[in-house]
Amino acid sequence: MTEYNPYPVPRRDLCGAMHVHRRLLNESMTYRAQRARIENRALQYATGRRASVRTGVLTVPVVVHVVHHPDVPEQNIGVEQIHSQIDVLNRDYRAANPDVSRVPDVWKPLAADAQIEFALATVDPLGAPTDGIVRAETGQAEFDVDDGVKSSATGGSDPWPTDQYLNIWVCRLGGGLLGYAQFPGGPPQTDGVVILYTAFGTTGTAAAPYDGGRTATHEIGHWLDLFHIWGDDDGACSNDDRVADTPNQADSNMGKPSFPHVTCDNGPNGDMFMNYMDYVDDDSMFMFTRGQRERINACLEGARASFLVARQAAPAKEPAKEPAKEPAKEPAKEPAVPGAAAHDGDVERLLHDSERLTREVLNDIQDALGLVGHRSGG
Ligand SMILES: [Zn+2]
Repeated sequence: MTEYNPYPVPRRDLCGAMHVHRRLLNESMTYRAQRARIENRALQYATGRRASVRTGVLTVPVVVHVVHHPDVPEQNIGVEQIHSQIDVLNRDYRAANPDVSRVPDVWKPLAADAQIEFALATVDPLGAPTDGIVRAETGQAEFDVDDGVKSSATGGSDPWPTDQYLNIWVCRLGGGLLGYAQFPGGPPQTDGVVILYTAFGTTGTAAAPYDGGRTATHEIGHWLDLFHIWGDDDGACSNDDRVADTPNQADSNMGKPSFPHVTCDNGPNGDMFMNYMDYVDDDSMFMFTRGQRERINACLEGARASFLVARQAAPAKEPAKEPAKEPAKEPAKEPAVPGAAAHDGDVERLLHDSERLTREVLNDIQDALGLVGHRSGG
């Protein structure tokens, strides 16, 4: 209804996740089969045929690879900037961000706590103590969505095991991209998210209007299987994000839209442009929905179930450096199960559920492999 876009520039992609998704769909029959299994599970959760068994808050161990060029020393971002990004994630994925209060009244009941927290890894893949930050000097002036940043052989930094750590690469990205992610179901050696060094965290090199840490919130949304809220159909209104409680909308929104913005006959409330999975400025996005949480849960209890059973310890050694917004956790005498509540019964139940889910995932993978073999044979 209203002319909302203040920028007289052509619409552009800020995120390369769909480019990677389409490339993998074209290249890999395994990826196509995996995506079919993952989408099937998501549909079961969305329709209530299967319900999440996850209880409590999951803590995802994170490793940040800072890939920097010696000619541009500011690319080697500081620890404080990295911590500022983790803090944003821990607010946004708990619906603890102060700006969640700006969600329009009609959608306030939909705003959801995804019950996920993120912590820089405290133990590296070999069991040694770490601050969860890897610094790698590169000769590459910039990187593209071809995953070069994810391998030391191409001037990047090799991932830590991607079924145990969320790998985040921070670097100079070309093409005007703020970031990109790989959806679940892709090759393990390239799993994770990539963020432009000027769109990461809230301090240091972070530059307006992408200095709110929301690029990582958005990209990790993809890593957890969320699609763009407009369905990537270039305004056709024919495709959506496969989440029922987000309105169908025509195309991405940019800048700072004013509510309501109606497209695709989605009035009177219009686009949910304040959702993290749109393209608006960092200070204009502030919510996930309940439907998106269900899709995330389907992913966590399916393709990413390894994070529910991972043995990586949650940070407990230096609680003073973590945001003190919740009561201190029990001291970890042994490697703790991330995200488990402090009660033994909850831990046992979570382990039991996770083992069952892991078996289901293995069955899914076997089915997928059988499907691939069948198809390639015929
Ligand atoms: Zn995206």
